[in-house]
Amino acid sequence: MEAADGWLVRVRPKSGRIDPTQLEGLATIAQTYGNGLMHLSSRGNFQLRGLSQAHHRQVLAKLKALNLLDPNPHLEARRNILLSPFEDRIGAALAEELNAHLIHLPALPPKFGFSVDTGTYRYLAAASADVRVERSHSGALMVRADGAPTGLIVSPKTVVEAIHDLCLWFLESGGRSSAGGKRMRQHLASGATLPSRLAGKAEPSPLGSLPDAGPITDGWIIGVSWGQTSATVMHTLARLDGLKHIYMTPWRKMVIKGPVHRAKTWTALITNPDIIHQPHDPRTQIAACIGAPYCAEGFQDTRNLALQLVPLLKAKSPTPTVHISGCNKGCAAPASPSTITLVGTEHGFDWIENGRAHDLPLRTQIDPLEATLAYLDK
Ligand code: SF4
Repeated sequence: MEAADGWLVRVRPKSGRIDPTQLEGLATIAQTYGNGLMHLSSRGNFQLRGLSQAHHRQVLAKLKALNLLDPNPHLEARRNILLSPFEDRIGAALAEELNAHLIHLPALPPKFGFSVDTGTYRYLAAASADVRVERSHSGALMVRADGAPTGLIVSPKTVVEAIHDLCLWFLESGGRSSAGGKRMRQHLASGATLPSRLAGKAEPSPLGSLPDAGPITDGWIIGVSWGQTSATVMHTLARLDGLKHIYMTPWRKMVIKGPVHRAKTWTALITNPDIIHQPHDPRTQIAACIGAPYCAEGFQDTRNLALQLVPLLKAKSPTPTVHISGCNKGCAAPASPSTITLVGTEHGFDWIENGRAHDLPLRTQIDPLEATLAYLDK
């Protein structure tokens, strides 16, 4: 798609997982054809920006060679599947099965998506998805419509069938055509009632707290400031000795698997100022979209403001979550509310507390630094 800074390519790694060769290839594409930067989106995708339409074919051929592109473009557009980086083996297999079934699903709204979150705890509850595969309190697999309190118990063999039925019901009950009902949650909130054969009675398993940057049993969780870094940094990451896989997350961190901290180039990676590798870094509390001047819809420079807010947030414990949005679309944090949301408008920034970018602002045309400082001093 076209953006204010040239063409933008969104790459969705299959089942949210990318291997070192694919990452290396992607970084080379960003350097050769794009602006040399790589972005992590709030849907666990990579975005390459600043590409030229003239290189469209070459870029697609390279992505295909890396197995990062579906041969069927319709399928590519539908592949909105989030997989928990802490899934069990069953979850990974289900994501694959669902991926293969997408071609058989009816035409759904473009952003309609799925989450597979079948570990002991749920990590994707705040991520945008319309149909969720989860575990019940008793550990059984279940399929739940986003926004419904309960879901239907299924077996590994019937999961895909239950998802298909839920999608059919969504369309037949007017989910696609009703105003504001283009997502499952909105559809249910606007009065649509799930039939009992799809609603089920199972409650989903407890929520897991989103893991911060730092070491984990079989690897490391890292973030990049504002979800953006250079292709050079990604090359360093891809070449770490011992790196097996990288799991993308919808909270703009990467779960890198393998004994990477023993690699000779580990220090070179973690000392890069873009990389967040330790917990409690205030940068991880700030979600900022690409904003102006890179996004045509952005009214304000979000990244620059984010940089200025870091020293203010450092002094506050616990650090509040801050969402800086170039407009009220809220791309950087679409699903979950933030303590402070600063929304760019043509007149400056609006102020929202404990809400999302499209919520009604408490105040308009504020000075974002002064307002944040005053809030933190309360
Ligand atoms: S929130 Fe608005 S400005 Fe930011 S990336 Fe989305 S559309 Fe662009």
